[in-house]
Amino acid sequence: MADSDNSPRSAILIAHTAIEPILADAARYAGRSERGGIFLGLRRGPHLEIKEATLPTRWDRGTMFAFHRAAAGHRAVALQRWSKSGRVMDWVGEWHSHPERFPSPSSIDLRNWQQITKSRGDQMAFLIVGYEGLWLGLCRPNRLKPIRYVEAERSDAGIAFLPQ
Ligand SMILES: [Zn+2]
Repeated sequence: MADSDNSPRSAILIAHTAIEPILADAARYAGRSERGGIFLGLRRGPHLEIKEATLPTRWDRGTMFAFHRAAAGHRAVALQRWSKSGRVMDWVGEWHSHPERFPSPSSIDLRNWQQITKSRGDQMAFLIVGYEGLWLGLCRPNRLKPIRYVEAERSDAGIAFLPQ
């Protein structure tokens, strides 16, 4: 069972406006280069509502096997949205693509996610987009391994994910 750490069962909602551009972008570059960006959204108690995703900027370098996210472009977008939204829209996670059908995190991914989550000091969502499947996990500052989330429901608001 998930949530062995007794924390509340939380949901991650990814709005269609956040997921659709990612899927289109990853598909367009599939087999050529890895893509990635950050998630912007709202923290609602234990839940994360992802409203927007950034796409690779000209500062990023994508290769077949790695995506190097340049902090400058994405962080600037995050700061801009945060101040425009009355400081509620927050950097709540990251996404990147993998050249595999059903992706899973690499040891480098796990290490990066831990570092990001620790330095943010709050839970963060991490999504990997594969050719046919997605891998979504939630990392918490006091927990080394991500909790895997799976799709539970689709609605007009977006796709809701719950712990596996
Ligand atoms: Zn990866």
